[in-house]
Amino acid sequence: MSREADPSHRIAADPSHRPTAVPFRQFIVKTHGRCNLACTYCYLYEGPDSGWRTRPAGASADVLDRTAARIAEHARAHALGALALVLHGGEPLLAGAGTLARFTARVRERVPAGCAVHAVVQTNGTLLTEDRLRVLADAGVRVGVSLDGGTAAHNRRRVDHAGRPSWPAASRGALLAAERFPDAYAGVLTVVDPALDPVETYESLLALRPPALDLLLPHGNWTAPPPGLTGGTGARYGDWLCAVFDRWWAAGRRETRVRLFESAVALLLGRPAAGEALGLAPFDAVVVETDGSIEQVDSLKSAYPGAAATGLDVFRHSFDEALRHPGVAARQSGADALAAQCRACPLLRVCGGGHYAHRYRAGHGFRNPSVYCADLQRFIRHAAGRLAGHLPGTGAPPATLPPVSPLPPVSPVPAGPSGPPVPPVPPIQRVPSAPSVPPLSSVPPLSPLPSPREGSAP
Ligand code: SF4
Repeated sequence: MSREADPSHRIAADPSHRPTAVPFRQFIVKTHGRCNLACTYCYLYEGPDSGWRTRPAGASADVLDRTAARIAEHARAHALGALALVLHGGEPLLAGAGTLARFTARVRERVPAGCAVHAVVQTNGTLLTEDRLRVLADAGVRVGVSLDGGTAAHNRRRVDHAGRPSWPAASRGALLAAERFPDAYAGVLTVVDPALDPVETYESLLALRPPALDLLLPHGNWTAPPPGLTGGTGARYGDWLCAVFDRWWAAGRRETRVRLFESAVALLLGRPAAGEALGLAPFDAVVVETDGSIEQVDSLKSAYPGAAATGLDVFRHSFDEALRHPGVAARQSGADALAAQCRACPLLRVCGGGHYAHRYRAGHGFRNPSVYCADLQRFIRHAAGRLAGHLPGTGAPPATLPPVSPLPPVSPVPAGPSGPPVPPVPPIQRVPSAPSVPPLSSVPPLSPLPSPREGSAP
C-alpha cells in the first residue's frame, strides 16, 4: 500500500487533525546494516522489506558526520535538554566499538551545551569482549543485549549463518557486561515466545542480572498474524505477560525494571509513560539508515515493503522535514489516528491501540485495533486488578473484572502492497477528551473485532 492510500496518513495530512509536531528525541542510527546472526524469525532480514540488500553494509564517515550535524541541528532548533542516541543495526558492533565511540563523541561535541546525549548500543551480544566493553564504557555508551531468554534452549532460533547457536557467545557477553561493566549495562531486550514457560523464561533472564528488561510482542498484523495467533483461542500472549507480571509484582523488591509493566502501571494511575507499546504519547523516534536515508522505525517493515521509507536523507533534509512526513505525523496524532473501536474503548488511554505496526491490515492501512487487542485487554485488565488490590489505604481486594469478549480466529491472508482500493475515510469527529479510564473494578468487556479476513486483500 502506498502511503497515499493509507487512511492513517490521510488523517495526518488533514490540517484539522495535525497536532503540533513533537520533536524527535530518539535517534536510531544504523551504524551497520548487516548481522553476524541469522535468527530464523528476524522480520528485518526475513520479512517483506528487503531494502537492506541495496544499502551499504556500514555507515560511511560522511553519513555519520552528517547525521551528527543533523541531530545537533534538531537539538538546537527545539532546545532539547536530552536525547537518546541508539546505535543500531544489523549488528552495530560490526562497525567496531571505536567507530561507535567516536560517533557518540561527535554527537556530544555538536549538540548545544546542556543537551545530554544518552547513548546505548543494541547488540546481539556475541561480539562483546572485555576490550570492546571498555571502549564503550569509557565513551559513555551503555549496552543493551537482545536475547530470547536466559538459556540455550530459549535461544535455539538465534543462530549464525552456518546454523551454529549464538547462546554461548551472547550469554558470555551479557554476563561480562553485568560483572565487569555494570554501569554500562543497559539490560536485555526479549521478544515474547508464548511457547516458552513465562516464569521460567523471566527467571532465567534475571540470572543475567539485567538492570532493565524490555518484553516485546513479536511483530505481526491482521494480514500476517504473529506466531500462534491463528486459532482464536483467547489471549495467549496476554496470558504469558500476566504470568510474568504476577512474578514481577510479587517479588517484594525490584529485581529488574520491566518497561512494559512500569508503563502499564503508570498509565493506569493516570501518569505519562514512554515507549511505543502502550499509551497515547506521540512517538518521537526516527531512524537513519547506513546510506543516510531518514526512515521511520524498523518495525513498520514487518507490514509491507517500503512502509518505513520517507524519501528523505540527512544530506538534503533536516529532521524537522521528517516531522512533517505524513507517516510520522500520523504517529503523533494520538487518538485521532486510531480506529473508531479504539477511540471508543474504555482502555484507550492505557492501551493506546497498541504498537503501531501491529494495527496494519492490507488494503486498510494502520487504522485498526491491534492484532493483539485481546491480549492487550487481558494484560491491562489483569494489571489493573493487581493495582486495585494494592493501592495504599483502600484495603480493597483485587478487582473482579468482567470477562473479555473473545476475538474471532485469525488466519493469514496474502500480504503485499496491492489490495482493494481503500474506501474514502469519512471525517473523524474530534473526541474532545479521550474517555477516562473507568474505575478499575468496572472495566466493561469490549465488543468483538471483525474477522481479519473482512475487507482484506483477496
Ligand atoms: S484494547 Fe483493543 S480496542 Fe482497546 S485501545 Fe487497545 S487495541 Fe484498541
